[in-house]
Amino acid sequence: MSQSSQYAYLFKFIVVGDTGVGKSCLMLQFTDKRFQPVHDLTIGVEFAYRMVTIDNKKIKLHVWDTAGQEAFRSITRSYYRGAAAALLVYDITRRETFNHLATWLEDVRQHADWNNKVTIMLVGNKTDLPHKRVVSTEEGEEFARDNGLAFIETSAKTPHNVDQAFVDTAAMVYGKIQEGAI
Ligand code: GDP
Ligand code: MG
Repeated sequence: MSQSSQYAYLFKFIVVGDTGVGKSCLMLQFTDKRFQPVHDLTIGVEFAYRMVTIDNKKIKLHVWDTAGQEAFRSITRSYYRGAAAALLVYDITRRETFNHLATWLEDVRQHADWNNKVTIMLVGNKTDLPHKRVVSTEEGEEFARDNGLAFIETSAKTPHNVDQAFVDTAAMVYGKIQEGAI
């Protein structure tokens, strides 16, 4: 193994939320630094990797995408199994995607089994469309606070805060490991 491919930790990250909120685009932007305006649901990459450095340690993030099964709420247990963290995504321009968060949260908490301490980052996506915004930043903050989640707003397009969303989440998982909490 070459020096550069070595890492101290491997974290599985999952991305959940309604169809069309930008889950695949967020993953693609984070792992491949590109934005694909029209994403074919059926040709989803199932997962991708990216290395991040936290506290001088290399951490490999293994990001899983749903490839469209979420439209039928038929995500299998193997998707959740072993996830260290979940990005719970809604679209700030579509109210219903925000209203469905509680159901997604229930699914993550029920199925993710990483010592029952899965780290969840609430992600309000599509900040590049301020004229279409219907869910305020304050509402996102409030939902996150009420449910013990971290919170960030992103644009998979620009790509405002995309790296931050994944790296901050990885740092929280790493922090829990250092504290011996997981
Ligand atoms: P998924 O079903 O949650 O995986 O959503 P996709 O990643 O396939 O994105 C759904 C649609 O929203 C696509 O047409 C994307 O191009 C678009 N999209 C995703 N993220 C953004 C964003 O941050 N800004 C804008 N303007 N469009 C986005
Ligand atoms: Mg998708």
